[in-house]
Amino acid sequence: MIRVRFAPSPTGYLHVGGARTALFNYLYAKHNGGKFILRIEDTDISRSTRECEEQLMESLLWLGITWDEGPDVGGSCGPYRQTERTSIYVQMVEELIKLDRAYRVYAYPEEIERLHDDLLSQGRPPHYDQEMLESFNTQERKREFSLNNLNPVVFFKMPRKEYRLLDLIKGEVIFGEGAIGDFVILRSNGQPIYNFAVVVDDILMEITHVIRGDDHLSNTLRQLAIYEAFSTSIPLFAHVSMILGSDGKKLSKRHGVTSVEQFRDKGFLPEAFFNFLALLGWSHPEGREVISHNELIDSFTIERVNSSAAIFDETKARWMNGVYIRETDLERITDLTIPFLIDANLITEEKAVANRKWLRKAVDSVRKSVEVLSEMPDRLKLYFEDTAVEPLKVENEDQRSVFKGIEAFKNRIEYLDTWNGEELVRVIKEVLKEAKPDRKLFYMSLRHVLTGSEEGPELIDVIYLLGRNKTLNRLERALRIP
Ligand code: GLU
Repeated sequence: MIRVRFAPSPTGYLHVGGARTALFNYLYAKHNGGKFILRIEDTDISRSTRECEEQLMESLLWLGITWDEGPDVGGSCGPYRQTERTSIYVQMVEELIKLDRAYRVYAYPEEIERLHDDLLSQGRPPHYDQEMLESFNTQERKREFSLNNLNPVVFFKMPRKEYRLLDLIKGEVIFGEGAIGDFVILRSNGQPIYNFAVVVDDILMEITHVIRGDDHLSNTLRQLAIYEAFSTSIPLFAHVSMILGSDGKKLSKRHGVTSVEQFRDKGFLPEAFFNFLALLGWSHPEGREVISHNELIDSFTIERVNSSAAIFDETKARWMNGVYIRETDLERITDLTIPFLIDANLITEEKAVANRKWLRKAVDSVRKSVEVLSEMPDRLKLYFEDTAVEPLKVENEDQRSVFKGIEAFKNRIEYLDTWNGEELVRVIKEVLKEAKPDRKLFYMSLRHVLTGSEEGPELIDVIYLLGRNKTLNRLERALRIP
């Protein structure tokens, strides 16, 4: 059974990079009928908060990424928050000490720092080994520690040999012999260090594949050595290349919007963003771009994850979102649009419910021109707000005939029995036949009178949606009817 995990540290929002890592894990698990586990890596107590944890989960759920095991849903390998697993780490440290793969050091932090500086000043690499560290472990020192209730730190005995990793994305990665020295796995405050906790968790949670950002590649060396010390099987690793901004630099806040929450607030559809994220470093075998959730699950394989960096192209994200806005069920787009209209004070919740049918049609009339839902209020405001109407000019023959046409149109719709698109089309045809205005100018002027703009939704939709009163009011002002 394939088991993968997403292991965020709850120290901030879920950013594009983290979301993409979560997504690749999710897709891989679902594609293979495996399990996707959410583990909260909150060992950095000063920076981790429950609020961030909740936000992370909310962002994942918004995207449509659900987990089979995690701190909220539980599971057989819990707990799923590292701060709740301290006793497990301590026990595993004991095991390594028993196996003679780790050892206690009764030294104060300053002493270890000094050792580090001494090594450097001797022109040696700052690599610790057991001999130098255990020189602190005098009987006296041990007594001092126990009298003062202090704990030793525990170091891992790093084998001085070459490690090779066959990464599923990067290919073979070689960590040269003696690249690092012995390192701390348990601090004197009883907290494990990150590399140790991750390995313990991945072993006990029976993780088969570690899919994560390649910024973790340098941690992998330590992790490989710890797996080896426990003589357990090592998961397969897939280090995903980083995401760059369109300027070729590592994606960061400088590039503007980068958290999932911000994309949601801008009016990205979760399914569009899910699709977009999947293409950040992965490509569909047939080069398709607009791919649904289930199709992504069906077609996702690690082989198609690119080993070079992905470029985050917001223009493409917006384009893709526009496609989803046009193609997604209108009811849903209407639902998602309403909060933006309420925020812009164009509508109240009650009115949105009462005029649902009308609103749906209004949304439909503009959705072709929208890339993100936050543009909806601007596109729809013509139906709500009173636009400034300029009186029609009558300075030449063409303008005079358009004036007459618009006047005739007004007169006819005033008494129209049925207010619908077909009737409106019929009326316009009659007017064009009788008053014979310049067609192009007629349409342009009518649109301008009704919307204050040269472009916008289909004219018939505009008239229909404005309704008789608003339409007449705007026409009368253009015709200078008091
Ligand atoms: N907690 C790490 C992070 O947030 C992830 C560790 C891992 O995936 O191994 O970057």
